[in-house]
Amino acid sequence: MIIPIFIPHEGCPHRCLFCNQHRISGQVGKPVTAEAVQAEIQTWLERTPPHQKTQVAFYGGSFTALPRLRQKELLNAAAPFLESGQVQSLRLSTRPDCLDDEQAAFLKAHQVATVELGVQSMNEQVLALARRGHSVAAVEQAMLVLRQAKLEIGIQLLLGLPGDKRASLRHTVEQVILLRPDFVRIYPILVLRGSGLAELYEQGRYQPFSLDKAVLLAAFMKKRFAQAGIPVIRLGLQAGAELESSLLAGPWHPAFGELVSSRLMFRQTKKLLAQAKTNQVCLQINPRDQSVFRGIKAANIARLEQLGLWQRISLVTDPAQERGFIKMVAREECGSFTQEFGSVNKSCCRATTFSGLATKGSG
Ligand code: SF4
Repeated sequence: MIIPIFIPHEGCPHRCLFCNQHRISGQVGKPVTAEAVQAEIQTWLERTPPHQKTQVAFYGGSFTALPRLRQKELLNAAAPFLESGQVQSLRLSTRPDCLDDEQAAFLKAHQVATVELGVQSMNEQVLALARRGHSVAAVEQAMLVLRQAKLEIGIQLLLGLPGDKRASLRHTVEQVILLRPDFVRIYPILVLRGSGLAELYEQGRYQPFSLDKAVLLAAFMKKRFAQAGIPVIRLGLQAGAELESSLLAGPWHPAFGELVSSRLMFRQTKKLLAQAKTNQVCLQINPRDQSVFRGIKAANIARLEQLGLWQRISLVTDPAQERGFIKMVAREECGSFTQEFGSVNKSCCRATTFSGLATKGSG
């Protein structure tokens, strides 16, 4: 579990074009105090089951660009929880150009285990248009520093930055794969009130992606990272009243990640059906992927029906099946699974899933 502590814009040497951390975090006002940090951690811990592995994370600013005294104040606020064993380690987000060996050693000494780098793009022109104030080389250097310090590294990427084209996005994905981060987060750009991008949007100089296009491109990114063995641990911003009220435009959906996963499931299903040598096929998914397979408001089932493909499918679940992947299994196996999972016959899987959808819906 991650306990998020927001320090909006603290330490940021630039105001990036797309950013309004006050709106994203829902936090406006004075910088958070050490006492407030401790109270927040305590509140979260009271809601957490015992023995759950827990990290405290400082998000929303450029942590390593803060004066060292302020860094110490925040990290020390979490220290009693580390000492008592209620929290195992710390995590923070920062800019790539605010890291060196000495800073990394300081973080290690304060039990920081994970650093999330706001990389956003690996294209110089896109970074410049986004007013990031750092280069691609700064990202590469930061990765080296963090690797040498044996810190876990996450990379945050943006989708839909001004000037970013399909080719530059692909290049970014491939460059990030070469950097071998431990995980990636992908955020489609939203136009938030108070950001530089809002001004461009209002002047008609920036047009955000449609939801469909953002889902399509995020699906490409997620698939490519999965092929490279790099997990995408988050897709899209967390829903929140402040965020939604300040949203001017952009591909916003509270379950953006599920939309992307469902899109990938749909593509896999179509591909498997195209490869099948028989008309009727048995597809196996992990039971926890059922809602993703169906899609939000059963959109995937509706699409498959429109294409005349749904009738060809018997669906079975197996907890041993890898999450996010579909396997085509032999018809005989399909029969044994349906029995194992208490269904009546081969076609019942389809009927069960479908009736489940009709009554429950999803998302
Ligand atoms: S994107 Fe990061 S560095 Fe840029 S203004 Fe926002 S928090 Fe600061």
